[in-house]
Amino acid sequence: MIANRRALHKRPEEGWTEFETTWFVTKRLRELGLQVLLGTKVINPEAVMGRDPKLVEAAIERALAAGVPQRFIDETEGYTGCVAVLETGRPGPVTAIRCDMDCVLVTESDSPDHPPARDGFASERPGFMHACGHDAHTAVGLEVARWALEHKDELTGTVKFLFQPAEEGVRGGAAMTASGVVDDVDWLLGAHVGTHCRLGEVGLCHGGFLASTKLDLHFRGRPSHAGSDPEKGRSALMAACAAAMMMQGIPRSGEGMTRVAIGRLNAGEGRNVTPVHADMQLEVRGETPAVNEYMVKSVERIVEGVQACYEVEAKLERAGEATTLPVCEDLIDIVREVAQKVPGVKRVLDVSKPSGSEDCTMLMHRVIEKGGRAAYVLYGANQNGHHRADFDIQDEESLPVGFGLFCGFIERMNGVKAG
Ligand SMILES: [Zn+2]
Repeated sequence: MIANRRALHKRPEEGWTEFETTWFVTKRLRELGLQVLLGTKVINPEAVMGRDPKLVEAAIERALAAGVPQRFIDETEGYTGCVAVLETGRPGPVTAIRCDMDCVLVTESDSPDHPPARDGFASERPGFMHACGHDAHTAVGLEVARWALEHKDELTGTVKFLFQPAEEGVRGGAAMTASGVVDDVDWLLGAHVGTHCRLGEVGLCHGGFLASTKLDLHFRGRPSHAGSDPEKGRSALMAACAAAMMMQGIPRSGEGMTRVAIGRLNAGEGRNVTPVHADMQLEVRGETPAVNEYMVKSVERIVEGVQACYEVEAKLERAGEATTLPVCEDLIDIVREVAQKVPGVKRVLDVSKPSGSEDCTMLMHRVIEKGGRAAYVLYGANQNGHHRADFDIQDEESLPVGFGLFCGFIERMNGVKAG
């Protein structure tokens, strides 16, 4: 598990480009003898958001150069992620565990104080880093699959292992959900390393994620000579600036917390040309799905208005989506009992501090909608902050806790005795 995590750490891949990672996982799962679903069996292309075909194409070239077989690339149909299914052949529930696999756009620290650099497993890809611990999630998921297969005779029902792509930017969760792969799931457990928990702590999540929508906004103006006939141009840059300022001014909501962030704006061609293009990446969040939707609607209204004022064309696209954390207290109680028995766990905490967003919520909502139950847990690590160049976890101590949690959960739900 540790070796796998470190191998994955060296080869980080951003969302929708995880071809080396998906191959790494699929190869091992198949060697174990598990059935592995790929491509449109686990990703519904119609629900895919924030996937750039040019990046995907380049990623496939890179993966092929790194030794990933062409026949495997063909099997993916261009969509990363996979799901392994373990059928025990005995009647019982369908239990699923979910792991994400993508990296963050950060260049990893090369300081000798940074353990991956010191011990020779730092990212080989400048600009890309497993700075959120999804390498750990993938390695844990693989080891749990190996364990489950080894203990197949002591299990009932079906166990599914979801390896979800593109969690960063909350893009992959909706697409995996829409494939229907969790429609038959009775119990779903998702987990994250680090965040609010220190090493030795496990956190049971009772809420705490914000609903969020990621948006890409493109303005198209009309060029003109900025000196001789500025009145003939229509500035995409000015439209984008006006939109950005107005978005920051969307009134807060009395119904719950809101967020708006304009993270990136590229505009213009040159000093003396009326800017023809402006491309913006932004996101909104809300304490409830309704509050988040209020923010989306406000952005849409501003874009309409700016379009008219500046006589430019605007295109607004949803690039990612996550919702709030659904809470099944009955299942949380079960996970608490499981967690208390995992070696290395010193404290089990209840976590409900609102923070980032997580698209496991999409899978969880679907499971619950279909009559199942879902929970989300944290297993701790001492880290300097996620998405930082010096992010690191104590894999030798932390990963066994994640492993113990998932195995304990599967044993509890699908163990022969439980049946
Ligand atoms: Zn993460």
